[in-house]
Parts: sequence; structure tokens; C-alpha cells
Amino acid sequence: MTTKSTGSTSLFQSDLASAVIRHVVHPLWAKRTHPAFSRYMREFERNQYLHPDELRKLQMLRLRQQLIAAFRYVPFYRHRMTEAGLTPLDIRTHEDLRLLPVLTKRDIQDYQDLLVSSNVPAGKRERNQTGGSTGSPLQFYVDKERFDSRMASTVRHNSWAGLRIGDWYAHLWGSRFDVGDKPDPNPEWRQKILYRNLTLHTAAVSEEAMMRYVEILRKYRPRYMVSYAQSAVLFAEFCNANKIHDIAFESMIVSAEMLLPGKRQVLEETFGGKVFNRYGCREVSVIASECEFHSGLHVNADALLVEVEAAPNLPSGMGRVLVTDLLNRSMPLIRYEIGDLASLDANIQCPCGRSLPLVGNIQGRTSDFLRLPSGRMIAGPSLALLAADMQDVRQVQFIQPDPQHVTLKVVGGTGYGARTEQELRRRMLPYLEDQTSLTIVKSDSIPSEPSGKYRFVKTSEDAATPTAVSQ
Ligand SMILES: [Zn+2]
Repeated sequence: MTTKSTGSTSLFQSDLASAVIRHVVHPLWAKRTHPAFSRYMREFERNQYLHPDELRKLQMLRLRQQLIAAFRYVPFYRHRMTEAGLTPLDIRTHEDLRLLPVLTKRDIQDYQDLLVSSNVPAGKRERNQTGGSTGSPLQFYVDKERFDSRMASTVRHNSWAGLRIGDWYAHLWGSRFDVGDKPDPNPEWRQKILYRNLTLHTAAVSEEAMMRYVEILRKYRPRYMVSYAQSAVLFAEFCNANKIHDIAFESMIVSAEMLLPGKRQVLEETFGGKVFNRYGCREVSVIASECEFHSGLHVNADALLVEVEAAPNLPSGMGRVLVTDLLNRSMPLIRYEIGDLASLDANIQCPCGRSLPLVGNIQGRTSDFLRLPSGRMIAGPSLALLAADMQDVRQVQFIQPDPQHVTLKVVGGTGYGARTEQELRRRMLPYLEDQTSLTIVKSDSIPSEPSGKYRFVKTSEDAATPTAVSQ
């Protein structure tokens, strides 16, 4: 529990109001607008404690149903499976899934119409898209009912952090920009009464904006925060620098960006609560989250099948993340390469008793890596840590137009000068190769992307989809 909050609570902000929303207002609204939500909610609550064999059986059943539907009604998959000499009946185990080719973002862009199921009427699906700060957006269809199950997954994973329907939470998010420049579709009353979130847009984080966050948080005093990881860290650092010590959260769910080592501690020390790391994307929503034991991220395995597959040219011990959505029929994503890397050593156990498998550490997007002339890849977020203890460096970003050239963009702190650059160069040297040149450029600021996310590495491959979890 936090002890930092001060001031009185209005009836609207009270636990009583939260309980009324949780037990009366939200169920009435969900019954009308998300009729399958409560059914999925009950099922998912139960599924998380199934015996692991039972859970795998359920996954396999849903996978078979998805493959049969894709083969029958989606020309793209019928063609792909036929070409590979397969029918859905050939996929009998989780391992057999590897026989199917990977679905890339490029496939979705090139064959979009062929990926749409002929068996889902237009009225039962919705068009959705990833925005992307750069490159072309990715368009996809989501079943209306899939939004209900996605909401149920989010609510289940939120509950591990103590956040329930009706509880106030601060939402440091760039969602408005995830879908291009469209305005937020949710009116303010809905945000406040149904979702109970105070959306603090992170797309243009300035000192003034963060001061406004402080004022809003002091007024409503939400007990939880759901945030882009790096935005939360920047906000915590702002509070510390300005000696603002009265903002507190019981728990913080961070997502969409890498949570760098050491930054969990910064958040917990600044705001008092525990950090719950989460991984997801707009295409399939929540993929995996930490529970109260923080042993790793539990996969949303009753709705998704996640594979971490070794592939050539990846850093050792890491694999690419492939996701299969087991429930979305209108445009099935089967073995979808999301563009992130995770550790291959996923055989970790969690004492919480949930059978939902744990995924190894998410190492970031493939585009968060520097690529060297030899083909070696270095994680940008871990390189950014090289300067973590330097008082004269506030922020860094790597720009890499090609493998031979790396530019290190630096926002200097007090005392920045030639010695700072010398020290940065000395620390970077062991990571670079002979043919790689390093240029250091001082900058006044490193803006986040229009999506509100912060990029550690910018390369010529920046057309990839940014990772975010929609609620
Ligand atoms: Zn657990």
C-alpha cells in the first residue's frame, strides 16, 4: 500500500464508486457492447490454473480449429499449406506447427485481401491497424467477439497487478497515435466512468507536459499506472529531478518498450509500488505479463500460442517471437513474426501455481539492434546502459544508416564536454568492429516517435511495426 498520497477523496474517486462501476455499471455496459466478455472472463480465470497437460490440450484443440478454418476459408493459408504439402490434419502436436511457414508483416501487406476469411460476415469484424512512426501501417481485421476475449485477457493480466475493473489508473500512453492521427475515439466520460483511466499522452513529452501529469495525478490520485516503459522512467526521473515526492502507485504495469535493467528499481523507488512488466502488440493485444512473483512473463496461452524460434543471424541464445492467435477468425495470424526477440531459455518455473507458460526475457525489437559488418547484432537497449552511470549524459540514441556507420546521439547533462565523448568512445569500442565508424553528436533532445515510444536504435529498417498493447 502507498503511504505517499495526501488529500481527501471525492465520492467519484472513492472505493465505493469503484465497486459500483465494477459490479453494476461495467457489467451492464459489457453485456450490451461486449456480450462474450463475461463468458471469456470466467473461462480465462479458470484456465490459468488448469493442469499444464489440460492447458496444452485446450491450445491444441483451438489450434486445430483455427487451422481448419484457415484452410477452408482463407485463400492465403490454403495456398501456403497446399504448397507445403500439408493439410490441417498433419499438425498433430505443437512441434508440428513448425512445418508451416512463418507469416511476415510483408505477407500481410502484400496479400491482405487473400488473408481475409470468407466465412466471417463484414458485420462481425472490425478493421484495425498499427500506425507505426515510420513506414506504412499494417491493416488487419479483428472479430468483434475477439475484442471481447482480448478485453477479458487484459482484465485477467491486470488483476495480477491488483488492478481491477473500476479502479482508477493513470495511462501514460501514445495510443491516440497508434492508429495514425485519429483523435481518441473514447469520449472523456467513458474514459472516466467505464475505463477509469486518466490518459496522459506520451507522444510529446515535455517538462510542461509532465508537470501537467503531476497536477492531474494529484487531483485524481489513481492507485495504479499503466505505461510505456520508457515514458514511465522519464516521468520518474522528472519527479526525482524536481523533488516531487507525492506521486505514488500501488503497482505499475509497463509495456510497449523495453524495461531496461535498473529502471525497475528507479520506478519502484520513485513511486513506491511494484513494477509488472508486460509484453504485447496491437495485432493480438496482451501476449505475456508478470504475475505477483515476477519470475518471468506468463503467456496468454489460452488465446495465443507463442513460439520462440532460433533463426540464422540472431544473437546467440535468442530466438524470434512467433505468435498464433487461436481465437481470431476474420484474419487469422498463424506463426506471425512480430519482430521481437526473446531468450530461448524459457524453462523457468513460477511459484504462483498458474500453468500459463513463462516466456524468456523479451530482448526487444529486431530493429532495436545494431548490425555490424560481420552480421553480429548488438542490443541497443543494453548499449544505452553503457552510459547509465555517467552524470554528464542524460539520454542516448544510436542511428545506423548502414553496418559501417554508427552515430551516437547524446543529450548531455552537467559537465558534458570532450572528456564525455572520449569516455563514450572508450566504452563503445569493444562492441564495434574495425570496419565500423563511430560518430558522436550532441543533441538538445531526443524526441520520442510520433507513437509516443522511444527508440534506442534507428536503422534503415525502421519500417517495422511498433509494439504496443491496446486495451
Ligand atoms: Zn506466476
